[in-house]
Amino acid sequence: MKTTPTHAAAAEEFLKDGERSHWHDDTLWHVRSKRDVAAQKIPEWEQLRNNASQIKDHVLSNLDNLLLQFEKNARENGIEVLWAKDADEHNQHVLRILEENQVKNLVKSKSILTEECGLNHFLEDKGYDVVDTDLGERIIQFNKQVPSHIVMPAIHLKKKEIGDIFHEHLGTDAGADDPAYLTEAARQHLRQKFIQAKAAITGVNFGIAETGGFVVCTNEGNADMGTHLADLHIACMGIEKIIPRAADLGVFLRLLARSATGQSITNYTSHFHRPRKGKKMYLILVDNGRTNQLGREDFRNSLKCIRCGACMNTCPIYRRSSGFSYGSTVPGPIGSILSPGMDLKKHSTLPFASTLCGSCTNVCPVKINIHEQLYKWRQVITKEGPSQPSKKWAMRFGGNVMSKPKLFDMMGNLARKSLSISPRGFVYNSFNAWGKHRELPEVPKESFKDWYRKNRKQ
Ligand code: SF4
Repeated sequence: MKTTPTHAAAAEEFLKDGERSHWHDDTLWHVRSKRDVAAQKIPEWEQLRNNASQIKDHVLSNLDNLLLQFEKNARENGIEVLWAKDADEHNQHVLRILEENQVKNLVKSKSILTEECGLNHFLEDKGYDVVDTDLGERIIQFNKQVPSHIVMPAIHLKKKEIGDIFHEHLGTDAGADDPAYLTEAARQHLRQKFIQAKAAITGVNFGIAETGGFVVCTNEGNADMGTHLADLHIACMGIEKIIPRAADLGVFLRLLARSATGQSITNYTSHFHRPRKGKKMYLILVDNGRTNQLGREDFRNSLKCIRCGACMNTCPIYRRSSGFSYGSTVPGPIGSILSPGMDLKKHSTLPFASTLCGSCTNVCPVKINIHEQLYKWRQVITKEGPSQPSKKWAMRFGGNVMSKPKLFDMMGNLARKSLSISPRGFVYNSFNAWGKHRELPEVPKESFKDWYRKNRKQ
């Protein structure tokens, strides 16, 4: 059986290419800096964050009623609403809709939910031509990869690599990596796909209970292009994406793009309320573990997430190790809270992929206490078992030593003496993960306690 590599092992793979790791770090930090500039231009930024957080608190406390209100209004608008308890049911709904409408070609705009459900592979296995139309998504689709970031899916690739991918798949000039040239090639290629497609799948950023309408935010206008040309629009929405009123939308739209990329607003904020004359619109409301997360008191706040990606851009672990090291659809700090809730065993190393510096919490536009939840997961994982036995043993041993002052002094003395005479291979061995890339500082001759006893009177 294939086992999932730990975060540390996957990160080590990425870090082998030191130059890429530094470049990735710098690129993401640049995006984070743009976010800071954009946020500082809004005097009421903190008030907006508070408002957004409180609206989401209200949503989580009234999710059942808001969803029913949303469903009723959407149906009255002429949208066919379906419910999916998990990824499989979601995919089966999409398949049935496509079969009933005899559609074989479809375009898709960026949707993390459909990634979470594995929709592309599911449909491709059944002979469907699924074309991702977001430029970054199309690049990684050509490259047979999954997104490494929820807002910038191909952020791990450099211009030159994208030029090579386009040369192979779109026939652009060998070695050409001018972004304008490559984008134009992608535009021509995608235009044909838009014209041929009979169905368009989109995600949903916000579903508005009061109106039964929903909003999709893109920077490329690809969601609009797809839905306006195709006869069929299938919108896939996680049940936590509800907001109560249209008036609440402004709060989130002001926060979303600024937090994500430092833009004032996404280039296209498209509102969908009903199918156009002679066309069909479906809306699939997906649970897939969200209700369980809502029931976990310590972690329910994670459902406030509006998927801006700011916590990834600021996280020192994410920036250096990339989204691939997480092995989950949503990587980074928020993914490390959401993924253990879906499969604790598989994702048990993710909450440890953090310095707990709290930078994620500081930038989160909906004020999720991300670093506190990561710390909580660590406690759950350590208690419930799936953490590594060596780590458990080391923690128990460390806890014992630190809780007994005499034993602590004795072990300190022993360590200081033995470290200074031990052969290098004894200290820097394969069990010492910390020492793989670092040197221990020089061993002091005495403990701080001894030094303090001698010097406190001075
Ligand atoms: S947790 Fe907060 S910062 Fe991270 S993606 Fe979600 S909304 Fe953005």
